[in-house]
Amino acid sequence: MNRNAAAEYRTFVTHLECSASGERHAADRLQGLSRAGKPLLVRYDLAAVGKALTKARLAARPFDMWRWRELLPVRRTADIISLGEVATPLIRLPKLSAALRGGEIIVKDEGRLPTGSFKARGLAVAVSMAKAFGVTHMAMPTNGNAGAALAAYASRAGIRATILCPQDTPEINVGEMAAQGASVYRVNGLIDDCGRLIGQGREAAGWFDASTLKEPYRIEGKKTMGLELAEQLGWELPDVIFYPTGGGTGLIGMWKAFAELEIVGFIDGKRPRMVAVQAQGCAPIVQAFEAGLEHAERVANAATIASGIRVPQAIGDFLILRAVRESGGFAIAVSDRSIAEAVDRVAREEGLLLCPEGAATLAAYQVALADGRVGRRDRVVLFNCALGLKYPLPYVEKALDRTKPIDFSSL
Ligand SMILES: *Cc1c(COP(=O)(O)O)cnc(C)c1O
Repeated sequence: MNRNAAAEYRTFVTHLECSASGERHAADRLQGLSRAGKPLLVRYDLAAVGKALTKARLAARPFDMWRWRELLPVRRTADIISLGEVATPLIRLPKLSAALRGGEIIVKDEGRLPTGSFKARGLAVAVSMAKAFGVTHMAMPTNGNAGAALAAYASRAGIRATILCPQDTPEINVGEMAAQGASVYRVNGLIDDCGRLIGQGREAAGWFDASTLKEPYRIEGKKTMGLELAEQLGWELPDVIFYPTGGGTGLIGMWKAFAELEIVGFIDGKRPRMVAVQAQGCAPIVQAFEAGLEHAERVANAATIASGIRVPQAIGDFLILRAVRESGGFAIAVSDRSIAEAVDRVAREEGLLLCPEGAATLAAYQVALADGRVGRRDRVVLFNCALGLKYPLPYVEKALDRTKPIDFSSL
């Protein structure tokens, strides 16, 4: 980054707030969960942000996630650990809109970020904050992409990273974590089993626990998806957002972003309906939503090809459910088969290779359009959260023998 380190931004953080009890916690020291054991949320002096930040001032800045400095917790520019967090493009799917007889379909393609997933947004902020607070060893459980982002940013910051993943985590993710300097171990369990071991390691070895929502800053990085989307759409939010939901940071973060943008005065009260998309083989949020519960039960034997959303139990379950309900949205589960079909269809027809989690949002949109939960004129945004290239691709058997005659018209 060629940003002038002397150009300090004012920061507007006032305190951290327990998401369950509302109790205030100090912002200027290292924090994990609240005293009640729940996620902490960063609070800002939004009235002051509204005076300091204008749309014109914003428009003059580089188009990356750090343009939102007034709504981020990093106080000193010199503390920013960056690998080039570009603003991600919006890609329309006009052929699919027409074929499905639906409204405008817009994909926010988060696969363009460093380490190939939107986990980079969260970890860029979390590692920057950890570094500022003098952390020397971070640890986390992961299904792959979060660990890859932690490995990269921690190495860049000179912080050690220990990462535990389920033993069937995609090979490419395990490899990228190792390549980017982390100590990675496969564990015979699921992500929440890994999370329990991380908690033990924190007690035994003093690791800083960077698990989803167990420190306050990853969600602030993920929040920039909502800020960025609003600006890209001319401060007019879409009707519906489909979000592939694992730990839920992105969904909760965007909901927080929209509330902050309204207080700052950048958007009006119109909000998208938030849809939490899960796979049928692991849908705790959908079950809780349908049962009218505030918390979700752990799913046994969780299984899906969409590994990023294979989260049997989420510490922020009540926050996901709250955001979905407040928004008038819903939670929906789709089959692995419909996910695979959606990957295939968008790649073939629109030339865009989605990750399975991103494809799940299209599968969910199709179901919701057909059963009327989403209207035919609704403008929808689907989140493609990782690069499709990080996932297994079809194997091509067809070959040509250059020593034999070739029927070119049949190729
Ligand atoms: C982490 C991840 C998700 C889920 O994101 P959350 O905000 O934690 O719910 C979805 N898809 C992919 C590819 C991911 O890596």
